[in-house]
Amino acid sequence: MRFDVLTLFPEMFEAVLGGSIIGRARNAGLIELNFIDIRDFTLNKHRKVDDYPYSGGGGMLMSPEPVYRAYMSIAEGLDYKPYTIYMSPQGQVFTQDTAINLSKHDHIVLLCGHYEGIDQRVLDEIVDAEISLGDFVLTGGEIPAMAVVDTVARLIPGVLSNNGSYENESHFQGLLEHPQYTRPFIWHDKQVPEVLISGNHELINKWKHEQSLKATLRKRPDMLEKAWLTVEDAEIINKLKAGDKNEDKAQ
Ligand code: SAM
Repeated sequence: MRFDVLTLFPEMFEAVLGGSIIGRARNAGLIELNFIDIRDFTLNKHRKVDDYPYSGGGGMLMSPEPVYRAYMSIAEGLDYKPYTIYMSPQGQVFTQDTAINLSKHDHIVLLCGHYEGIDQRVLDEIVDAEISLGDFVLTGGEIPAMAVVDTVARLIPGVLSNNGSYENESHFQGLLEHPQYTRPFIWHDKQVPEVLISGNHELINKWKHEQSLKATLRKRPDMLEKAWLTVEDAEIINKLKAGDKNEDKAQ
């Protein structure tokens, strides 16, 4: 899968995405990452990319032409339109489902704004979707774009050493992941749950699923409203809720 990021700060990306799992995937040719400096596409000698907004108010706006020329440096010569995303606080909030859908594309372009944002006309011309990292405003689209690249890239086959290991992780199936433990077996007088060393995979899976329901109920009960739950799951949740109420009364 190919990612092209249009940004005024390409150097930020190598620092974050150049190493670790994503860097290794790139070196192995599983993903292609290009960080394109919009400033290289200005037509003035001062490499100025911004100007005053017509609407007045404080701050500067990124001009359409350098953004367009940077985009065309990618799109020109392709026989398809690369799926182009503007990182924006006005977009749909990024979720694991968004990442799964994006991972089905062969090529995505991520456009990072800065200052007060980008002239609307170039957005209308090149952007297919707007994605937000959350309901807050950052100074630029770079951190959101890094989050999108990292999240989508780890879904590409071969990027994680244990292929498919993300399928049991939080959010993949609408629940949070169960708690996890590593050695030592006893740490600060706390023992790893006995079932995990039982060798009984059926029991271990049952324990993991119940713990996953429990974590979701305690930390993100809103997720349970949308999760696909079996009758057994609903019973487990009711028992957990009853247990919580009894604990509250006892205190
Ligand atoms: N004036 C814009 C508005 O009110 O919608 C906000 C501009 S923001 C200061 C500058 C840039 O940061 C945006 O163009 C966008 O690329 C990026 N940005 C800020 N918050 C973001 C968020 N929550 N998600 C994604 N990108 C964001």
